[in-house]
Amino acid sequence: MKNMLRKCGAIVTLLCAVGYAPLSTAAMKVTLLGTGTPILNIDRFGISVLVEAGSQKLLFDAGRGVAMRLHQQQVPLRDISAVFISLLNSDHITGLPDLYATAPLPTDDGRLKTPMRLYGPDGIENVAQGIELMFKDQNRMRMLEGEVVEPATHITTKRVEPGTVYEKDGVKVTAFLIEHGHVKPDFGYRIEYDGHAVVITDDTTYSENLVAHSKQADLMVQSVAIGSRALERAAPDYVNHFYGYLASPENAGRILAETQPKLAVFAHISLYSQPGIARATVDELRERVQAAYRGNFVIGEDLMSFSIDERGVTQLPYSAEVRHKESGSRNLP
Ligand SMILES: [Zn+2]
Repeated sequence: MKNMLRKCGAIVTLLCAVGYAPLSTAAMKVTLLGTGTPILNIDRFGISVLVEAGSQKLLFDAGRGVAMRLHQQQVPLRDISAVFISLLNSDHITGLPDLYATAPLPTDDGRLKTPMRLYGPDGIENVAQGIELMFKDQNRMRMLEGEVVEPATHITTKRVEPGTVYEKDGVKVTAFLIEHGHVKPDFGYRIEYDGHAVVITDDTTYSENLVAHSKQADLMVQSVAIGSRALERAAPDYVNHFYGYLASPENAGRILAETQPKLAVFAHISLYSQPGIARATVDELRERVQAAYRGNFVIGEDLMSFSIDERGVTQLPYSAEVRHKESGSRNLP
């Protein structure tokens, strides 16, 4: 038990002590499908967060491996109601072509028969047109074989501007500008349902606008970047360049201290290194955030899930082994 508490971090002792009671009547469920960056990492796939609220299954960013992670989570691809992109960097969209091409195929889970609904910043139309062109000939051939229906070969796009971008069956998504240096626009999203709120802020450093739109959240999914103390001493210009547009542990702590979510989880975790200087450890990341923020937070891993209801936010049972496991499907390996 002592070891478990240490792993969870002293400030989340309460969360761990309460345990991982499954919540069958959760208002919202949030799953970290991918927590990584453009850097190849078998344990951290590309950034993507699944938010399930009422009848809606909303995907926020679609990085590398998103279709595989949904499969592991036993969420049929056809069930994704809409996809929201924060910014157009590759690590947020490289999973889209796979999602687009695979969801309409006939499987045990059924298939998508309607256009993918894609929301994102200025330029999202180019992404959609590019994917449709990429698969133009395969779609023609699969339609001839009866494997794909024509409506599913289209992507419906909506360019995101600050404000409410999506409302359906009681689920509301609001976009707001966050700060990522020269990459503009870059959006954070606030998802509200049944009196609860989830905030997702990828790829950003501290900004007053971020804080203003992120208060009173049940769960906040926040990015963070860290070079070890040793790297910061050896190559300050290198590390400070990234800290200019990604939240350092100290800035991440400042964001959380000012927004005060019931629980925060770090995803899109950038770990910098150079030859001879290792990446920062999880313990260093935790300690540096704790120095700026005394509230509850979790350092996220792929396929971690959180349930939100009137009792608060609960981390669902998790084992790192799930990242490498086939889902419970009937398919042969
Ligand atoms: Zn990114």
